[in-house]
Amino acid sequence: MLSILNIDNENKIKIKFTSGRYYVHAPLEKSADIENILSRIIGISGWAKTVVCEKNINAVLTACIEEGKKLFANGIKTFKIDARRTDKSFAHSSYELCCMAGDAVSEAVSGLTVDIHNPGDIIKIEIREKAFIYSGGVKCFGGLPVGCAGRGMLLLSGGIDSPVAGFLMAARGMIIEAIHFHSYPYTSLEAKQKVIQLANITGSYCMGIHTYILNFTKVQMRIKERAPLIWTTVLLRMAMMEAAEKAAIKLKCKCLITGESLSQVASQTIENLTCTENRIKLPVLRPLIGFSKEDIILKAKKIGTFETSIQPHVDCCTLFSPPHPVLRGNVNEANELYEKLELQPLIDEALNDYELVK
Ligand code: ATP
Ligand code: MG
Repeated sequence: MLSILNIDNENKIKIKFTSGRYYVHAPLEKSADIENILSRIIGISGWAKTVVCEKNINAVLTACIEEGKKLFANGIKTFKIDARRTDKSFAHSSYELCCMAGDAVSEAVSGLTVDIHNPGDIIKIEIREKAFIYSGGVKCFGGLPVGCAGRGMLLLSGGIDSPVAGFLMAARGMIIEAIHFHSYPYTSLEAKQKVIQLANITGSYCMGIHTYILNFTKVQMRIKERAPLIWTTVLLRMAMMEAAEKAAIKLKCKCLITGESLSQVASQTIENLTCTENRIKLPVLRPLIGFSKEDIILKAKKIGTFETSIQPHVDCCTLFSPPHPVLRGNVNEANELYEKLELQPLIDEALNDYELVK
């Protein structure tokens, strides 16, 4: 049975689903917008523009011939037919359909020939509640539908890694909330705008991301005043984790997500990652932990965050960062130093004065 999920009356867009397929009915002038949206939806394996016709063999063969003409006009010289029948009452088997359509198309379109081993394109026939004929098709990201795997809090910086980390967890079905720490006026308003833009791009794959923006200037100044220089980055990360966990619990997130990757920088040795997370209870998911920077960059380019990430704005982590940071921090020492900072009131102050960007 078809169910109508959504109708945009003004623009006459209808979305229907059956088992294994969604159908989007839309006027042609909306194609470009819809194709853009479909290509970003996590949880679908791909989409194709299809011709729909009655389930009779003449209509199917005519539609295949039209598809063949289109392919030939686009320079394709060889094709094959791929037919599937979920409606087994249809008079012809999939194999018969392939043979009949293959013959019909190659006879009608001279110059276009069948090559079942190495075709230039494939004309697909699906016999379902109607007959669907299409070629081409776009592969999407796959993954699991956003919302089926709970809610996670992404620590979003303005860099390359964290948007990719958020995308990967969204692709495992997680709803993403984001938290960003800035140190205005030491960091610029442009740096904050960049993070909002990154949240927008990443959110376009997962029904939007709410970004909680916190001013961490006082926290950072306190660390600068009271901690040994070599420890400042790790201590700042510990403070971020603490603030992020508090926000996460309030927002019913079940984990924190970071863009950390083992040994990428000094603060991401296994010892320093241990220090960073040791005071919090929520699990910290680090989907990029085994990725090389090259792999992360490839992914960032694919999802469209890379060009924004490389805009040169100072992040709060690079501010006051020591030239020679501690490499293998000891957890007990980290905790002793952290407690001397007496950060709780400053973290609470930052948490109470957030800016929310939807
Ligand atoms: P990215 O890792 O996103 O490229 P980066 O390289 O500037 O940014 P790292 O120093 O690698 O940041 O930080 C490791 C992780 O810590 C980030 O991936 C992010 O999850 C978190 N993080 C760093 N800075 C911030 C910040 N200002 N606000 C929120 N989270 C941050
Ligand atoms: Mg990084």
